[in-house]
Amino acid sequence: MAKTCFFCTAEKDEQAPVCPACGRDTAVPGPLAAEHQALLQKRDRLRAELVEAKARLASRRRKSANA
Ligand SMILES: [Zn+2]
Repeated sequence: MAKTCFFCTAEKDEQAPVCPACGRDTAVPGPLAAEHQALLQKRDRLRAELVEAKARLASRRRKSANA
């Protein structure tokens, strides 16, 4: 029987532990998957902030090196 992957919503075999479309572990229960998804979003946000902070730091370093 087909089931949808909660990550990418692709149809997958119910027995398959890993989604063939996105390669994620689909054996985890729904609530955990939702939590996982929220954590991934948080991680992406933090990563973006880190990139921004690094860029600010780099430009500040460049300015002080030229001074
Ligand atoms: Zn998937």
